[in-house]
Amino acid sequence: MPKKADICSFCGKTANQNRMIIAGPDGVNICSDCIKYCDSMLASSGEMKSTANRDGLKVPLPHEIKESLDQYVIGHEYTKKVLSVAVHNHYKRLVQGAHFEDSEYADVEIEKSNIMLMGPTGSGKTLLARTLAKLLDVPFTIVDATTLTEAGYVGEDVENILLSLLQASDMDVGRAEMGIIYVDEIDKIGRKTENVSITRDVSGEGVQQALLKILEGSVCRVPPGGGRKHPQQEYIKINTSNILFICGGAFVGLDDISSRRMGSQKMGFHEEQKSAKKVKVDKKEDIAVEPEDLVKYGLIPELIGRIPIIAQMKELTKEDLVRILIEPKSCMTSQYKKLLAMEDVKISFTDSALREVAHQAVSKGTGARGLRTIFEHLMLDVMYEAPSSCQGKSVKITKQMIVDHRVDPEAITNILKKAS
Ligand code: ADP
Repeated sequence: MPKKADICSFCGKTANQNRMIIAGPDGVNICSDCIKYCDSMLASSGEMKSTANRDGLKVPLPHEIKESLDQYVIGHEYTKKVLSVAVHNHYKRLVQGAHFEDSEYADVEIEKSNIMLMGPTGSGKTLLARTLAKLLDVPFTIVDATTLTEAGYVGEDVENILLSLLQASDMDVGRAEMGIIYVDEIDKIGRKTENVSITRDVSGEGVQQALLKILEGSVCRVPPGGGRKHPQQEYIKINTSNILFICGGAFVGLDDISSRRMGSQKMGFHEEQKSAKKVKVDKKEDIAVEPEDLVKYGLIPELIGRIPIIAQMKELTKEDLVRILIEPKSCMTSQYKKLLAMEDVKISFTDSALREVAHQAVSKGTGARGLRTIFEHLMLDVMYEAPSSCQGKSVKITKQMIVDHRVDPEAITNILKKAS
């Protein structure tokens, strides 16, 4: 039995590695969890000034943001520009009050511009979001839309995405209200059918409606421990007006919807009637997605209206994939070099080997994700043997090895033999 001095008088929990108990007078104790909770309650009720210091926030320049993104993300120049400007403006919106107190712009409210990232799987949407998170000094979180359901149904309440941001801000409501949330897989919460259904669509339209409330800026009540809401619970209030949302999805099949629309437009304007087949727009051509296409895809118009910036990311080319293998910080080839250097093994890759890896990845159709699968498979033998029998050796990976999916043992040469 723990001693009374080790038990929090508020929640009844005991001290552990992550929870400290602070003793007060008359045998009353409080734990660090309860202190954090009280802190966020006070902040949300306005009794305590937020610790967030908006005036001291350094607004990063769009160029700076893009240059940092360039170090990790290959290609997608337009998307990186869009994100850099949007994040820069997000910071400016946060400090706007401090700059224009007495000017003609004092009453001008800068509205937020949420962003939609559309791109095939493995093209780097999540990587962009994660990289941004590293660069920024506002709280940032990534949530998966597919885990959400309408309140009252099995799954996560949509408000829980705010809890995730709150946790990223150390439960500081003021800081959370300045944050950025990346909602992944937004395309998976499309309305199931265009018709009104007799059963409730709790993971599709229901979630979109709930998400809409958060996206458009409102005061939301979040259960501090997550999970379901229930009537006797205390809530943390979070105002979402300044929280920037970046939504990402692959939107498989959307280009068909867009090209069909463009096809039918062309048919309408052209005097001579062409067959639908002839006017079908080439998929490789840039097809601009219009909000109406997203409605057809199953997103509700109100939600689309709240995400005014759409950045379409193209499939990565073979050249992009080669660059991904060698250029970014912590690229895959550097990771293998480091891993093997720890075993005193030197590894190198010929240019044609890298091109062959990229070529195989393109045919898999899983974007840059395919690169890792190919490498993991190929490197298994080397990684297995290196720690016990390859010390002091070097290995050169050639195109033929990639084609054969195996490393030729002969290729492990002895040129680095130690002096002994
Ligand atoms: P998505 O979210 O679009 O499905 P991810 O961001 O999860 O794709 O990409 C999977 C992995 O592939 C990333 O972790 C990264 O290692 C690599 N990758 C994808 N796209 C790029 C890119 N444009 N530049 C560098 N690496 C990339």
